[in-house]
Amino acid sequence: MSQQTQDTGRHYIDGEWTAGAGEETFESTNPATGRQLGAFHRGTPGDVERAVSAAETAFEGWRAMSYIDRAEVLWDVYHELRDRTDELGAVVTKECGKEISEGRADVVEAYHMVEWAAGNSRHPHGDVIPSEIASKDAYMRRRPRGVVGCITPWNFPVAIPFWHMAVTLVEGNTVVWKPAEQTPWCGQIVAEMMVDAGVPPGVFNMVQGFGDAGNAIVEDDRVDTVLFTGSAEVGHEIGAKLGGEPGREVALEMGGKNGIVITEHADMDLAVHAAVMSSFKTTGQRCVSSERLIVHSDVYEEFRSRFVDLAEDVAVGDPLGEDTFMGPVVDESQVEKFHRYNDLAREEGADVLVDRAELDDEEVPDGHEDGHWVGPFVYEVDYDPHLRCIHEEVFGPHVALIEYDGDIEDALAIHNDTRYGLAAAIVSEDYRQINHFRDHAEVGLAYANLPCIGAEVQLPFGGVKKSGKGAPSAREVIEAVTERTAWTVNNAEDVQMAQGLSAEITTGSDD
Ligand code: ADP
Repeated sequence: MSQQTQDTGRHYIDGEWTAGAGEETFESTNPATGRQLGAFHRGTPGDVERAVSAAETAFEGWRAMSYIDRAEVLWDVYHELRDRTDELGAVVTKECGKEISEGRADVVEAYHMVEWAAGNSRHPHGDVIPSEIASKDAYMRRRPRGVVGCITPWNFPVAIPFWHMAVTLVEGNTVVWKPAEQTPWCGQIVAEMMVDAGVPPGVFNMVQGFGDAGNAIVEDDRVDTVLFTGSAEVGHEIGAKLGGEPGREVALEMGGKNGIVITEHADMDLAVHAAVMSSFKTTGQRCVSSERLIVHSDVYEEFRSRFVDLAEDVAVGDPLGEDTFMGPVVDESQVEKFHRYNDLAREEGADVLVDRAELDDEEVPDGHEDGHWVGPFVYEVDYDPHLRCIHEEVFGPHVALIEYDGDIEDALAIHNDTRYGLAAAIVSEDYRQINHFRDHAEVGLAYANLPCIGAEVQLPFGGVKKSGKGAPSAREVIEAVTERTAWTVNNAEDVQMAQGLSAEITTGSDD
């Protein structure tokens, strides 16, 4: 840990930049070079406590503003994100290692989300609903829940925070945000944008730090909703803590063991393209990345040969280079996990087809020797429900080819044999197969003749089974950060009840 200095990144709490109560700082490191990018104060549970108090105090004033006035703050952030897309995209790439088109796309996705949320402030917020009684007007209205805690991961360090915060703020909630410890620089820039846009004190608070700071958000019962995107382990821990707590809402989005089904009717160009994008983009570190390719035996040989050729060849290198397809993984623990699962696949009997797990020295770009480098690892294995390597998420370019015989139900049986359920794709020219897959794949996001990555903000984003609960992302986050009120008004001068219920009050003196 470095000493605190004036340049050390700070928290933003109650309208002020602050070093917080703790003594410790931590470094942000470039995964491609191993070089330090900056130091940041490490938030403590006490800092979180102050941030929640500020958010609680600011809530009444913020919710009293109109939707449209609240959205004005977000429109300023939108313009800043657009104006600084290249600059911030490069920071994303330097801090989390994904290649530069992905770094930029992270910022583009963020301003799309802000655009959706701020634009939505001028759209209807609820429904007018008929009543059985002609003299009654009934409505569904929304109101903000209060203080929302946002805990975000490193792999989309700008987009995911806005998935959590943009709708949340426009709906009238206040925010306590903890960015991922791997990407505090992105966190700092996002916070600066909020401040420049004039967000009132206490409405937006940011505490830098690790899991203990995240946990303090979860433990504080003044936080009405917790939005979490990250690992299944932590997500389930949060779900278990808050699941039974009256009045506390939680929306979780975790990973997957996502699969692509390539049927006997697949277009092979599309199949190979979709599989390479899904397995290797972001070096396999998207929650929607695919680690299982389930391929019909009629097309298996051709698919295997073409997929293997490309996996042998995809460009791993400097993520700031325009020709790079795959950058490094985020840190050394991710390198170790990847190797551990590659070894496990071997132990479980897999036949390894591509092993670029340890890159040759000449593949590592000059000056990047201390980066966290890995390359594609591809294997084939007979389907067996007991194999851990095809059931546990690796979060790296670790891909299984699994051959199947029979019809789409047989492919689906393999596909659905996982405790996860985030994203999937089918490649087929047969619309019946496609529609059957759409209706029976146990996932929250599904694609046909496309990669299983690349969600857009105007669609819901979230998983089923072990992959999530609710949707802390994109437009559906509105359900987690608002309460719905069924509101009925009587326009008559007497009381009439629905369902034929008598409204007469009888008394003992009536007879
Ligand atoms: P990843 O594997 O993507 O890093 P994590 O679940 O470890 O996923 O981290 C996602 C976010 O959750 C990060 O901001 C991290 O600091 C935070 N976090 C980690 N542990 C906890 C915890 N016990 N409670 C709350 N937040 C946590």
